Amino acid sequence: MPHGGLTGLVEGALTQPLDIVLSTERLNVIEEISASERTMVVQAGVMLQSVQEAAASEGLMFPLDLGSRGSCTLGGNLSTNAGGNRVIRYGMARDMVLGLEAVMADGTVISSMNRMIKNNAGYDLKQWFLGTEGTLGIITRAVLRCREEVTTAPTALVAINSFDALVSVLKAARPRPCGQPLGL
Ligand SMILES: Cc1cc2nc3c(=O)[nH]c(=O)nc-3n(C[C@H](O)[C@H](O)[C@H](O)COP(=O)(O)OP(=O)(O)OC[C@H]3O[C@@H](n4cnc5c(N)ncnc54)[C@H](O)[C@@H]3O)c2cc1C
Repeated sequence: MPHGGLTGLVEGALTQPLDIVLSTERLNVIEEISASERTMVVQAGVMLQSVQEAAASEGLMFPLDLGSRGSCTLGGNLSTNAGGNRVIRYGMARDMVLGLEAVMADGTVISSMNRMIKNNAGYDLKQWFLGTEGTLGIITRAVLRCREEVTTAPTALVAINSFDALVSVLKAARPRPCGQPLGL
C-alpha cells in the first residue's frame, strides 16, 4: 500500500497486519520547472508546500492548496484527486496534471509524461491513477500545470441571503482578473 504524507482523512492509507507499505518519502525531487511552459516535473513524494514554493520562485503558482500543505505529498494529492480551498476557480487536482508516470503491481511502468495543454492523442492513461487511491498503481512522477503567480489579494466580505444570490455573486466574480478564488 502506498503511503504519502498520511494526512488523508478517510483511512485510505490504513494498514492491516501483513500489509506491505511502500513509502514515497524518498521520491522527493522537483526535477524541472519551466516558467515559459508553466509546467513542473515533480516526483510523487514532494510535499505540496514545496511544490507551491518552487513554483513561486519562478513567478508561477501551483493552484492546489489544502490545510495539510506542509505534510501531504503530491502523489497523495493526485491519488485522492484533492480539491482544496481554490477548487471553485482552478478545479480539482485532476485539472492541474498534464502528464503522469505510475508503476503497476507487476512492475510495469506506465509513462505518459505529456507537457502540452492541447493533446488529443489516444487514451488519457493518467486518468486511471488520478483519484483512484493507489488501487491501480503507484504514482511516481507528474507533469504539473501551473498558472501565473497572483500578486494581489483583494478581499471582500459579502453577505448573501439566498442560494440564488450566492450563485450570482460567483458568476459575477468569475471573470475578474484577481487570481485568488472566493474563499469557499
Ligand atoms: C488539515 C487538513 C486539511 C485537508 N484539506 C483537504 C482539502 O481541502 N481537500 C482534500 O481533498 N483533502 C484535504 N485533506 C485530506 C488530505 O490532506 C488529502 O487527501 C491529501 O491529498 C492526502 O495526501 P497524502 O500525501 O497525505 O496522502 P496519504 O494520506 O499518505 O494517502 C492518501 C491515499 O493516497 C494513496 N497514495 C499516497 N501516495 C500515493 C502515490 N504516490 N500513488 C498512489 N497512491 C498514493 C494512499 O495509499 C491512500 O489511499 C486535508 C487533510 C488535513 C489534515
